[in-house]
Amino acid sequence: MNCSFCNRKAVYKNEVQGRYYCDTHFSNYVEASFRKELRDQLGRTHDQLKIAVAISGGKDSSTLLYLLWKTLKENRKVHITAFTIDEGIEGYRNLGLESARKLCGELGIEHMVLSFNERFGKDMDTIVKSGIKLEGSPCSYCGPMRRDLMNRASTMINADYVALGINLDDYAQSIAMNFLRGDYERMIRLAPHKRKLDGMVRRIIPLRKLSEKEIKLYAILNSIEHDQSWCPFSLDAQRNKARDLLNSLEVERPGTKLAIVSFLDSLKENNKQDNLSIGKCKKCGNPANGQYCSSCIKSGFDKEEESFQS
Ligand code: SF4
Repeated sequence: MNCSFCNRKAVYKNEVQGRYYCDTHFSNYVEASFRKELRDQLGRTHDQLKIAVAISGGKDSSTLLYLLWKTLKENRKVHITAFTIDEGIEGYRNLGLESARKLCGELGIEHMVLSFNERFGKDMDTIVKSGIKLEGSPCSYCGPMRRDLMNRASTMINADYVALGINLDDYAQSIAMNFLRGDYERMIRLAPHKRKLDGMVRRIIPLRKLSEKEIKLYAILNSIEHDQSWCPFSLDAQRNKARDLLNSLEVERPGTKLAIVSFLDSLKENNKQDNLSIGKCKKCGNPANGQYCSSCIKSGFDKEEESFQS
C-alpha cells in the first residue's frame, strides 16, 4: 500500500484516520501532533522557561526528550534538563539509565539521577526481596516514591514544568481506572496541568495523543536511543485489565482511546476546580490527601515522625 500523501511505500496505517503513511509523512504527523500538544499545554508565551524531563530510558520518555530537543533547540528562552529516577531494579533500571545517559550525551542535555537508595535508604529490589507485605503490587509501593523524587527533581531544577512521556494508551488507561474507582478528584487532577497545583510543579504530557505503537515506530525510524526492557515488577493487575479492555474496544471502534481523552478534556473545561487543592504532607511538604503523602507512608517516614513526636 502507498502513502496517502505521496507515492512512496506506506509503513503505517492510522486506523482512526484511515490514512497510510510513508516514513517521512509518518514522522511529520508525529511531530505535528507533539508540537500542537506542547503549544496547547504550555499555553501563553514565556520569557524564560525551564523544563525538567523525566527520562527512564524507555521508548516513550526517550522520544519525548528527543522531540523536545528537536522542537526547542533553537529557542534560547527554553532550558531543558533531564532526570532519571533510579528505583534500584537490577536488569531493568540499570539498562534504562545507560540509554538515558547515552541519549542525553548525544543531544547535549544535562542529566541528573535521583535514587531510591539515597532518598529512602532502600531500593525496590530490597523492598520486594524483604518479603514485606505489598498492598496491591510493587507498583503501589514504587509509584508514590517515584512521584516524591519527581517532585524533588523538578524543584531542584527549579523547573516551570516537568514533562512526562505518557502515551495515549497509558493516559486512556489512567482515566479509565480513575473512572472505575469513582475517583473523580484524582481524574480531574491528571496532567496536563494548566494551572499551578499546591506544592507540585505543573506536568505536561505532549505525547498523550500518540499511541504506544506510533511512538515505538517513530523511535525506530528516527534511530532514537532507547532501552526495550520491561520492569520485572510490573504486575499492576488493574492496569493490565484496563489495557486489555481498551485495546479490544479500540479494535472494534478505532478512536475510543482518543474519545476518552476528549471526555476528560471536556470535564476539565467545565470544572472550575481543576486545580483542586490538596493538603501538604507534614513530613516532606509534598501534596497529600491526609496528614502524610503516600510516599512518606510507603517508606515509613510517617512512623518515624510519629515516634519522634510521642
Ligand atoms: Fe516501579 Fe511498577 Fe514502574 Fe516497575 S512498573 S518501575 S515497580 S512503578
